[in-house]
Formats: sequence, C-alpha cells, structure tokens
Amino acid sequence: MLKGEGLAGKRALITGSTSGIGLAIARAMHAEGAEIILNGFGDADLIAELREEMGAQHANADLLDTAAIAAMMSEAGPLDILVNNAGMQYVSPVEDFPTDKWDAIIALNLTAAFHTSRLAIPAMKQAGWGRIINTASAHSLTASPFKSAYNASKHAIAGFTKTIALELAQTGVTANCISPGYVWTPLIEGQIPDTMEARGLTREEVINDVLLAKQPTKKFVQPSEIGALAVFLCREEAGNVTGANWSIDGGWTAE
Ligand code: NAD
Repeated sequence: MLKGEGLAGKRALITGSTSGIGLAIARAMHAEGAEIILNGFGDADLIAELREEMGAQHANADLLDTAAIAAMMSEAGPLDILVNNAGMQYVSPVEDFPTDKWDAIIALNLTAAFHTSRLAIPAMKQAGWGRIINTASAHSLTASPFKSAYNASKHAIAGFTKTIALELAQTGVTANCISPGYVWTPLIEGQIPDTMEARGLTREEVINDVLLAKQPTKKFVQPSEIGALAVFLCREEAGNVTGANWSIDGGWTAE
C-alpha cells in the first residue's frame, strides 16, 4: 500500500480492529499517516504483530462493559477520529432468539458507540475538528429474516449517527455511517452454520443463494475498499459530508 500523509498528526481509535473491516480501516488510516489505537480481541501474538506493523497502541476493552469503555476512552486521551466498528451477529427466528444474544448485540453494535461518541465529542468540539465513522450495514437500510437484533441495532446506529451529525453540524466534527453489503470476514463465516440450520440449506447454497444473491455485482465487498472510503471521510474535502449513510454493497440497496 502506498503511504500518504493525508491523516498525518491525526489520532484514530478504531473499535473491533483486530479483525476484518476494522483492521482494514486501521491499515488504511495508518497508511495515510494516522496514529492508530486498535481495539478488539485476538490472540496475544496476533495483537503484538498488528501493534508492531502499525506502531499502534492496543486498548483491550470489552465494549460490552461500560466501565471498560470509559477507561479505554480516558486512556486514549483526545481523539481526532473515532471509528465505531466492533459488531456481532446472531441468526435465529425471533421467537427462539436467545435474550442474552439480543442484549449483547444491542450493547455492542449500538450502545458502545453511544458511549465512545459521548466521551470523544467534547475534545473534538474543543479542537474544532473531528470525524466519527460508524460501521453500520446494508442492514441499516433494509432487513433480512432471522437477524432481528442485528437489523434493529444497525437501523438504530444509522439514526444515532444522523442525530449527532445534526448536533455537531457547526463544530467541525462530522458523523457518518459506512454501510457495507457482504464482506468476507470471520463475522460472515461464523453465521453460515446458523443460516444453514435456520433455512435448511447447504453451505454453498447459503453463500450463493442467500449472501451473494443480495449483491447484484455477485462479489463480496473487500475490506480494503471500506478502508479507502473511511479515509476519504476523514479528509478535509469531506468536511461537508455529515449525517450520511454510505452504501458500499455491490448494488444491494439499489434494488
Ligand atoms: P469481525 O468478526 O471480523 O471483527 C469484529 C471485531 O470486533 C473483532 O476485532 C473483534 O475482536 C471485535 N469485538 C467483538 N466483540 C467485541 C467486544 N465485546 N469488545 C471489543 N471488541 C469486540 O467482523 P467484521 O465483519 O469485520 O465486522 C465489523 C463491523 O462491520 C461490524 O459492526 C459488522 O456488523 C459490520 N458489517 C460487516 C459486514 C460483513 O459482511 N462482514 C457487513 C456489514 C457490516
């Protein structure tokens, strides 16, 4: 990846950045010169390698724990860029949906972003510059069956993002969602067995007839494509882009 300097001097915390989309966003921002704070789970060797690769810090907060979020934000200090990306999925008919899974999905995909944002905003306002980017989903705009908690959390984060964009409109701080379609990451791989069971399909049928059936391009979105979009939203040229929900979904939500 070519190294640019568009984000030199910017300090970015990306939640859920030890894997998948968050990791690609962290790499893209690092390549533009940002100082990176990683967050997320993973084995110690992997995290040490990622820290070394990006000269990054790692905050090991469990975002299901409000006190841990507050400690992470206080240790991180003032941020220029906050990416609320950590998320989880669970696939089940609503009447069988485990209530603890519902609570955890809402807590991670929605409430954690409320806490990190409310704690990051004062310093961004004081600096007169900031970027909040929330990884939502095509499921913030449309629904699929058996994903009630996920769809609810993603529609809600889109509403939350619009609200803070309006509140911050005259402060130099923008807030936007990125809404990917299907991106091949551990999150997608992990839901294949449950989708096979919920719909009575084979693995290949789930990939071709459920996942890629949604995307007119018939291709999974690449994590690096999302990283590039996140970098754009941090540029000066994107200062008037706020309250938007950017689809990157192979045409899914155009239908
Ligand atoms: P992933 O499973 O590869 O990565 C999830 C990350 O979140 C990991 O770093 C993990 O350690 C971290 N995480 C999980 N629980 C956490 C917790 N309690 N506290 C702190 N960190 C935690 O997933 P991904 O596919 O890269 O998804 C990232 C985001 O993108 C999610 O919000 C997801 O809903 C969204 N998304 C993914 C897709 C897709 O197709 N993969 C599509 C649309 C939206």
